[in-house]
Amino acid sequence: MRRVVVVGAGLAGLTCAKTLQAGGCEVVVLEKSRGVGGRLSTRRSDLTQYDHGAQYFTARDERFIAFINDRLADGSVAVWAPRLDVKLAQTITEPWYVGTPGMSSLGRAQAIGLDVRTEVRVQLMSRREGHWQLAMEDGSTLDGFDAVVVAVPNAQAMPLLAEHAPDWAKMLEQMPMEPCWTVMVSTQASLTEFDAGLPRTGAIGWWARNSSKPGRPESSGRHDWVVQATAAWTQANLDTDKAGVAQALLQAFALELGVESIEPTCPPMAHRWLYSRLKPGVAALAEPCFRTELGLGICGDGLAHSRVEQAYLSGLQLAQAILAQSN
Ligand SMILES: Cc1cc2nc3c(=O)[nH]c(=O)nc-3n(C[C@H](O)[C@H](O)[C@H](O)COP(=O)(O)OP(=O)(O)OC[C@H]3O[C@@H](n4cnc5c(N)ncnc54)[C@H](O)[C@@H]3O)c2cc1C
Repeated sequence: MRRVVVVGAGLAGLTCAKTLQAGGCEVVVLEKSRGVGGRLSTRRSDLTQYDHGAQYFTARDERFIAFINDRLADGSVAVWAPRLDVKLAQTITEPWYVGTPGMSSLGRAQAIGLDVRTEVRVQLMSRREGHWQLAMEDGSTLDGFDAVVVAVPNAQAMPLLAEHAPDWAKMLEQMPMEPCWTVMVSTQASLTEFDAGLPRTGAIGWWARNSSKPGRPESSGRHDWVVQATAAWTQANLDTDKAGVAQALLQAFALELGVESIEPTCPPMAHRWLYSRLKPGVAALAEPCFRTELGLGICGDGLAHSRVEQAYLSGLQLAQAILAQSN
């Protein structure tokens, strides 16, 4: 397993790649987007920036705690202590971490020193003379890999696995992820004394004053908000256009905060995540999967519990399994 290709530059794929490289493998990471980090993402507007994917994360496993301590030291992560209403504040028993100056910093820090090729969408994986060959959407190919790691959301992994690991593809079919509409907006008005809320009823599942997170751009009195819909509302409005979604969620947000209306300082933006997190109630796997005879592995939060920490651990564990087979 000397030459490994990792599909997907989210935290799971990057962590797997970094660990393999440290273990002596030659690693290439292929990512379909323009940047790294996957759902640990930051959207920029002319005015400001918003974390429109993962909102914050916790660290419970000592391996992830050690990683986060390094990131706290290099400044790519900080603790966020939002002002919360009494009910929500009572449920918080551990620090909430965020990437700084945006959530995408965590992925960028993990990508340092790796050969990551962006804007490359892997379409097909095939075996040629005992090695893997990958075919991209743009018609290019890469070959000669001893192992391939698929580190993408479950539904996106299924077509890649269908030919060589149909049982895994079938297993992932039983592990669906929920969609999530997210709206980003800025206001001059402060709207509320709190920085985050988790209504989980009606249209809104979560809202946050993004500008209350540490290290965000100087807001000079402006308030930047991220409002995320519940999975049920998103599912019911999956094909609604972005403007319609923004209007509906901002109305619901005003209702939630008990204000008459939300007056944006610039046009709100909406983003539809087709795969945000594992559906509640779906049984997760204890570990990522690796098949030695094929040199094929899968990892990512979609196998675990759809938390940033689980994505990290999943990538780490898969790399360790591959290295153990190689030695
Ligand atoms: C709206 C939302 C809110 C969330 N809130 C939280 C939260 O508050 N706390 C928390 O802990 N977690 C949260 N999460 C979950 C968290 O973001 C994920 O657990 C974690 O980021 C997943 O990392 P990953 O590497 O497994 O997958 P991803 O980050 O999805 O990375 C997979 C990468 O693979 C790429 N890719 C896909 N297909 C291909 C292909 N064919 N070729 C090449 N590249 C491909 C994708 O572009 C992506 O960059 C949230 C997620 C969303 C969407």
